[in-house]
Amino acid sequence: MKVFYTKKEISEFVNSIIREGKTLGYVPTMGALHQGHGSLIEQSITENQVTIVSIFVNPTQFDNKADLNKYPRTLENDIELIKKIDASIVVFAPSSKELYANDVNSKSYSFDGLEHEMEGKHRQGHFDGVGTILDLFFNLIKPTNAYFGEKDFQQLQIVKKLVSKLNLNVNVVGCNIFREHSGLAMSSRNERLSKEARAEAAFIFKTLKQAKIHFGTKSAAKVEEWVTNQFAKNTHFNLEYVSIANVNTLKPVKRKSKKQQYRLFIAAFIDNIRLIDNIALN
Ligand code: AMP
Repeated sequence: MKVFYTKKEISEFVNSIIREGKTLGYVPTMGALHQGHGSLIEQSITENQVTIVSIFVNPTQFDNKADLNKYPRTLENDIELIKKIDASIVVFAPSSKELYANDVNSKSYSFDGLEHEMEGKHRQGHFDGVGTILDLFFNLIKPTNAYFGEKDFQQLQIVKKLVSKLNLNVNVVGCNIFREHSGLAMSSRNERLSKEARAEAAFIFKTLKQAKIHFGTKSAAKVEEWVTNQFAKNTHFNLEYVSIANVNTLKPVKRKSKKQQYRLFIAAFIDNIRLIDNIALN
């Protein structure tokens, strides 16, 4: 299996694929791969002639140095896992120095307000970091299709906005959330949960599903209040935010309309580990 570490190697490979006129699917990841990533990779393989997976823990999207340092790094396992899916997949695993040289800073982007909602309020500079690295990766890899999980729904919408603002010729594909048997959304961070906390974390999706039912008859504000109360009663969790938002603007819902689509988003801490999840409401 091909594993590239430098911009020169990946560029040469990409240019050869473009010369051959093949479609190129791209799955950006931060590694510590699980079946959620696996489902994106499988979709890319089905829909493209060549698939590239990048593995890079991007420092500029972390507002918290401790979180960056604690982020799991399991490159050898990741490469083995990818090889098992399909040995023709190409892995790009650059170092931070290779990508950023000595300037580990974000560029500044406007995503028309999407960046100021939810995660944007709680993770300072996060989406500028995401924009910076994807701007770089998209220009290097020039994919036909790029795959992103609805697990990070706000990120997915921001990536679509980035592509449209930068006028890039990339089709951004949103993929369903892949869940553990318990309903917990798969995440590299789940590895850091104790056995008890991991079992308890199934509470998140259980609550989202019940909230969806309530949304059929109650206002958005009432459903948010109900979710807040459920979390307040559960001593294992600290709820950071709950928001029922329009899927396009990500702005909180004031009054429901049948013509609009909504999702419920939450971020919560358990065992000091921050988990996010969301569910389509209609
Ligand atoms: P990460 O490595 O966490 O940056 O994630 C890389 C990509 O995988 C992002 O597009 C995520 O949204 C996606 N992803 C992560 N977890 C899941 C999941 N449980 N289901 C679907 N996609 C996911």
